[in-house]
Amino acid sequence: MGKVTGFLEYDRQEPKYQLAGDRIRHFREFTLPLDDKDVTRQAARCMDCGIPFCHGPTGCPVHNQIPDWNDLVFAGDWEEAARNLHSTNNFPEFTGRICPAPCEEACTLNLENVPVTIKTIEQTIADKAWDNGWIKPEVAGTVTGRRVAIIGSGPAGLAAAQQLARVGHAVHVFEREPKAGGLLRYGIPDFKMEKHHIDRRVVQMEAEGVVFHYGVNIGVNKDFAELEQEFDAVLMSGGAEAPRDPKLPGQELEGVHYAMPYLVQQNRRNGQEVVHDEPILAAGKHVVVIGGGDTASDCVGTAFRQGALSVTQLDIRPKPPMIEDKLAIWPYWPTKLRTSSSQAEGAEREFQAATLGLAGKKGRLTGVNCVRVDERRQPIAGAEFVLKADLVFLAIGFAGPVTAGLVDQSGVSVDKRGNVQADTEAYRTSRDKVFAAGDMRRGQSLVVWAIREGRQAARAIDEFLMGTSILPR
Ligand SMILES: Cc1cc2nc3c(=O)[nH]c(=O)nc-3n(C[C@H](O)[C@H](O)[C@H](O)COP(=O)(O)OP(=O)(O)OC[C@H]3O[C@@H](n4cnc5c(N)ncnc54)[C@H](O)[C@@H]3O)c2cc1C
Ligand code: SF4
Repeated sequence: MGKVTGFLEYDRQEPKYQLAGDRIRHFREFTLPLDDKDVTRQAARCMDCGIPFCHGPTGCPVHNQIPDWNDLVFAGDWEEAARNLHSTNNFPEFTGRICPAPCEEACTLNLENVPVTIKTIEQTIADKAWDNGWIKPEVAGTVTGRRVAIIGSGPAGLAAAQQLARVGHAVHVFEREPKAGGLLRYGIPDFKMEKHHIDRRVVQMEAEGVVFHYGVNIGVNKDFAELEQEFDAVLMSGGAEAPRDPKLPGQELEGVHYAMPYLVQQNRRNGQEVVHDEPILAAGKHVVVIGGGDTASDCVGTAFRQGALSVTQLDIRPKPPMIEDKLAIWPYWPTKLRTSSSQAEGAEREFQAATLGLAGKKGRLTGVNCVRVDERRQPIAGAEFVLKADLVFLAIGFAGPVTAGLVDQSGVSVDKRGNVQADTEAYRTSRDKVFAAGDMRRGQSLVVWAIREGRQAARAIDEFLMGTSILPR
């Protein structure tokens, strides 16, 4: 523990953002980083508790050794902090930017509502490691002669590929899209995470021996059976992108879209990729986003940057309390009112609001018919209202992996939610030498969980191929 009285001397300090009026003029990241002195003080707030819940079962899913690297940052040994951080997390610059930080909810100081700024410290360590050239390819010392195919280059596939290449396997990643990253690149907007962070990891991984094949959609333009023949093991990490369908009257109207095509289009534009579909743009429009999660929030921020006249977000859930009952919930993830940076850019938020249907004239959307609901989500009589809308985004979550193509062709068993069935020890599917990890196995989740599953699946595959493994679990 670096400074015994740090948590008494220093207040929690978070990075500031560019002002909303400035940041909605561009799509880039807008966080104003803390300087080294401030980050060092924040690290000094860590109490190195006897039982650090932050990296325990209810905290960080990759079990980052948070108190250890806080101590190293306080001591000024950033390089060793970076080494320690990378021992549990392949891509801390991703999670340092976009992780919701369950570690901070589980921090002992959070009992007083002022946890250590763990996520900010993680990002600072990772960015400094890149800036100083400490992150280098880690080329395997031996070659095993075993070949592994990875389907999908989201965080799960990337983490698995990197781990497997580092123990000497020949790793080939097959990706449907023209570039790597999965939802990190095509779902999550640039203003949350710019894509050059992915590009330099791809360069690092190529130097470690990973071969990327883009534009290959397994089950569509390359048969799954070919992979089974050509490789000693296959990992399915194709994500869970099938949207939940609200089946609303009027859903066919012009101006009504699922969230993902909208977000993908803007990410392609930002990445200088060609957008083939009819453009979906919010400029000069009244926008309604149906849903209360990350995807909905990303639609809000994207619509503001495109020049929407207004953005309203409908959430069927009751407005949560500002602060949770700490003693009842800590160290678990609490339900409390969270305002994303996108929502803070001027969104109207309607809680306990259900959508009855979409109204239109001559085939074109004009409004959303809504009703207030009670705590059990039952409509309240006489509480109907109409919102004017030119554009609606449906963002009520994901049903599971897309089955057409890969899942159907592979013939693997799926669970009752439609996710590919595999446990979290062996990560093996119902087919011999076929494994599954990330959202494709667990359903739509978080980047940090995808990294964890990719790492653990890599270890399971290595054990399957070699009988033993030095990779961490
Ligand atoms: C809009 C949005 C915002 C989000 N925001 C956050 C956030 O802020 N923080 C957070 O932690 N999480 C967030 N998430 C969740 C997070 O992005 C996912 O949990 C994570 O990316 C899952 O990783 P994955 O590798 O399992 O799958 P994915 O990231 O979905 O990657 C799957 C990859 O497989 C490819 N693929 C699929 N099928 C095939 C095939 N047959 N052949 C070849 N390639 C194929 C896809 O093209 C894709 O590249 C968000 C999700 C969405 C949709
Ligand atoms: S990956 Fe997420 S949970 Fe883990 S230390 Fe970083 S911010 Fe916290």
